[in-house]
Amino acid sequence: MKKTADMIVKGASIISMDAELQVYEEHNIAIQNGNILAIYPSQDDVYDAPTVLDATDCLVIPGLINAHTHMPMTYFRGLADDLPLDTWLNKYIWPLEAKLVKPQFVYDASLHAAAEMLLSGTVLANDMYFHIRETAKAVSKAGMRAMFGEAVIQVQLNESFGVAPICRAAVELNQEFAGNPLVSFVLTPHAIYTCDKKILSTCAEVAQKEDMLLHIHLSETKFEVDYSLSNYGKKPVMYLEELGLLDSNIVLAHGIWVDEDEMEVLAKHDVSVASCLESSLKLTAGILPIQQYKKHGVNICLGTDGVASNNNLDMFSEMDINAKLHKAIAGDPAFLPASEVLQMATIKAAKALGIGDKTGSIEEGKYADLAILSLDSLSSQPIYNPYSHIVYAMNSDSVRDVVVNGKIVVKNRKLVNIDEAELIDTAKKYKQEILNQL
Ligand SMILES: [Zn+2]
Repeated sequence: MKKTADMIVKGASIISMDAELQVYEEHNIAIQNGNILAIYPSQDDVYDAPTVLDATDCLVIPGLINAHTHMPMTYFRGLADDLPLDTWLNKYIWPLEAKLVKPQFVYDASLHAAAEMLLSGTVLANDMYFHIRETAKAVSKAGMRAMFGEAVIQVQLNESFGVAPICRAAVELNQEFAGNPLVSFVLTPHAIYTCDKKILSTCAEVAQKEDMLLHIHLSETKFEVDYSLSNYGKKPVMYLEELGLLDSNIVLAHGIWVDEDEMEVLAKHDVSVASCLESSLKLTAGILPIQQYKKHGVNICLGTDGVASNNNLDMFSEMDINAKLHKAIAGDPAFLPASEVLQMATIKAAKALGIGDKTGSIEEGKYADLAILSLDSLSSQPIYNPYSHIVYAMNSDSVRDVVVNGKIVVKNRKLVNIDEAELIDTAKKYKQEILNQL
């Protein structure tokens, strides 16, 4: 007699991204209660399920993980490009955020971002912004997974919206959403130049006590290093170490202007860095020194940053450019092979977020968070090596279906829980509002 499951993904080539990088040809994945129950040869046919997703002639990969982003910035896409970072921030982004970023704006923009991410194979985002309850609601509606932090920026704080209330709110949100498997809340002091010592050490204390992830921008530009040296007498990483932030599970966004002494400290504390290469290239912030990081054994993963600077949320293009640019810089085509770049968008990202035991690879007991890539297009044939194929030949258009928490959320390139046409209409309306505010 057959055993039962909630869903079976059938007949796939499974790119597991487990520690041995096992690839299973013509295997099924049985899913139950949102988790992977079994991986077994299709011919064995040992499970029955009410939902069967045929993945014959497809590659199944762990859903991609975007380790640093700002989902509610969607409507600022393309608003102000090809500008220096300070002009872009001071003239456009910050004034507009001050006028427009209200709960409904955040909800609508986050729903758009979640839809865009799911359609391009991303199942989990590590997000930092404002009104995070709204983002959590939107992402839950889309059926995506995310971790949210309310950005702590000193100049915006007041009596009721101080660092202690923000930390308390994050702890309470985790309790409030405890029954929701898709979302969790973390602590996100924005950066060392926008938060003082007290803010940073308070976040560190709460993160330690509550066992929460810390997520901060660090050394995105050379300015931050100079700022840290002249204001704190220390390099940015040493400053974070002194304040206790590196004793928690912490992911640093960017980490471009970090020297080898700092890398040694990051390695000692098992700190991960999320590189957002496309955004950093466009803003000419710099390029992550990945050869040096690898030498010190620091875990590196990938993020898109917000669409205002990227201008998309596409992890496929992020993988492609990372693999190629770093080879060129290293002068070595064997540097950063495709399989390693795919790890940076899956299991290494899961590890960075402190959930490497729960997701990031296709293994029994882990979340059933999968992207199913179709091989039915001209550009995806023939296929010899699945890793190089995924990173160099395929793109987000290859994503046919997406499963999150054991539920199909994208089917035949269509969103299951959201009306795409409605999202496009809403984006057009916001464009007018944003132009009126400029
Ligand atoms: Zn950012």
